Amino acid sequence: MIAVSDMEHTHVDDAQRTVEIFAIGNELLVGQVQDTNTHWLIRAVTVAGGQVRRAGILRDDYTHICAEITAAVQRAPRLILTTGGLGPTDDDLTISAIGRTFGLEMREHPQALEWVRERYAYLATIRPNFSAELNAARRKMALFPVGARPIYNPSGAAPAMALDVPSAHPAGVTTIVSLPGVPSEMKAIFTTSLRPVLEQTIGLACYLEHVLVLDKGDESRIAELLGQLQARHPTVYVKSRGQCLEDGLRLTVVLSIGGKDAAHIRQELALAEQEAMEGLRQLGYTILRVVES
Ligand code: ATP
Ligand code: MG
Repeated sequence: MIAVSDMEHTHVDDAQRTVEIFAIGNELLVGQVQDTNTHWLIRAVTVAGGQVRRAGILRDDYTHICAEITAAVQRAPRLILTTGGLGPTDDDLTISAIGRTFGLEMREHPQALEWVRERYAYLATIRPNFSAELNAARRKMALFPVGARPIYNPSGAAPAMALDVPSAHPAGVTTIVSLPGVPSEMKAIFTTSLRPVLEQTIGLACYLEHVLVLDKGDESRIAELLGQLQARHPTVYVKSRGQCLEDGLRLTVVLSIGGKDAAHIRQELALAEQEAMEGLRQLGYTILRVVES
């Protein structure tokens, strides 16, 4: 595992919008390709109001993927996102490994097959000497576990997959979504055809982030103040961080919050921010500016 979130202080609603992410691919574990998908997905999920609790990198290996997905479902997050291993080659086995994990038979999905067919027919119109024929490798991208839903891929051949499996999450299910590894395809699906699934699972809540840029360094001088602030405002995530900004390396205090009720989270953040500013001023800091997003 590469990261376990420390955001355990969030309230009950947030606890239900939990997400785990797995980047799958041997090339990631020998350092041939840098895993940028996980970082992008963590940010995208957070901004959409989800809470990423864990992220990891896995080999293209049935036993390994089955064991990790089984363990993840036992932790009962609302959503598990995987990226990589959806293509036509034999080493792309993410979806069949997930099917095997839950003992589900693999069947050609008519909608998925239609999308794969359309994609190659389109490519044949724009590439010279390109055959639109659906060979076995291409048909493989339409093989889904029984009960899974294909998710349209607007920029590539392999459709993504969504599968609900029973879990101890309050919703009664954990939804597993498998996205392609190619970053442009992964992002295109996440930002378009995956929206209804995100709405249904993590609820597409609001997320606010304010960065207070300070005039001086020394995180240790503000540690106690931030600890007290965090304890008084458990729904706001309080974090001090050195950040490289346009005027050089600066100490910043980042306050962030996610939730369904936009007015409520705005108010919570404003209260915490006011307290943070007062405390920092008392310690002799000047707040150079506040960057809001
Ligand atoms: P396809 O085989 O159809 O291209 P796929 O879903 O099987 O799609 P992969 O074979 O796993 O995708 O990866 C395709 C390419 O995407 C890799 O060669 C790599 O360049 C890039 N890639 C895969 N995973 C990641 C990742 N986690 N972060 C960044 N790039 C990645
Ligand atoms: Mg791969």
